[in-house]
Amino acid sequence: IVQVSDLHKSFGHLEVLKGIDMEVRRGEVVCVIGPSGSGKSTLLRCVNVLEAPNSGTVVVNGFELTDPDVDIDKARRAIGMVFQGFNLFGHLSVLDNLTVAQRKVLKRDKAEAERIALDNLTRVGLAEKAGSMPAQLSGGQQQRVAIARALSMDPAVMLFDEPTSALDPELVGDVLAVMRTLADEGMTMLVVTHEMQFAREVADTVLFMDGGVVVEQGPPNQVIGDPREERTQTFLARVL
Ligand code: ATP
Ligand code: MG
Repeated sequence: IVQVSDLHKSFGHLEVLKGIDMEVRRGEVVCVIGPSGSGKSTLLRCVNVLEAPNSGTVVVNGFELTDPDVDIDKARRAIGMVFQGFNLFGHLSVLDNLTVAQRKVLKRDKAEAERIALDNLTRVGLAEKAGSMPAQLSGGQQQRVAIARALSMDPAVMLFDEPTSALDPELVGDVLAVMRTLADEGMTMLVVTHEMQFAREVADTVLFMDGGVVVEQGPPNQVIGDPREERTQTFLARVL
């Protein structure tokens, strides 16, 4: 459902992605691991069309995002994104955070948007917070609301960029549990994470990036459990 081929991205003279090939198949969970600065976020941002690649192709849900004639707004509708920081609208209630894009972009009426919003809040265990303001929630709750908001748009694939790394340690587990449930339900997910345990247990494929290239990819038992490449071994020795 996501297909990236020979993707190159530079910022000025700095080449951040040096020919990335990867894919996420429908229903699959792909976790991207690697040191800081290796280009993980840039890869995700290219998949979500927040950055324009210099060359290569990115196809998401049948839309070739790198085709200049593609309808980007339509293509992006297939993609749900959850970032490290909490990107909720602070001046809107939790419920309104979940309905505003449904109504504007998908043209759902108020009642339908609210029903879908409540369904998704229930999925992340926060139905009782529908009337709260984001500032009244913990970081972990805000992040679960952000996940529910993305789900309310019926994405074909969910992208996560270190969704738990800004959280207090005791709040990480709740967010990971929600992500684990989504994975079990068959959601297609591309997840940048430092949570090796999560990657190991939930990912179908783990991709290790370093210096703008995919050094190694395969099932977690291989890439995390028994890495072939020295760079992967060195990285894992530091984080495990
Ligand atoms: P981290 O684990 O710290 O989040 P990362 O693997 O996500 O790291 P990226 O954020 O993709 O790494 O950044 C890769 C490199 O690209 C870094 O050297 C970064 O400074 C640079 N970079 C990222 N975005 C920009 C930008 N908008 N302009 C210039 N340089 C950038
Ligand atoms: Mg990053």
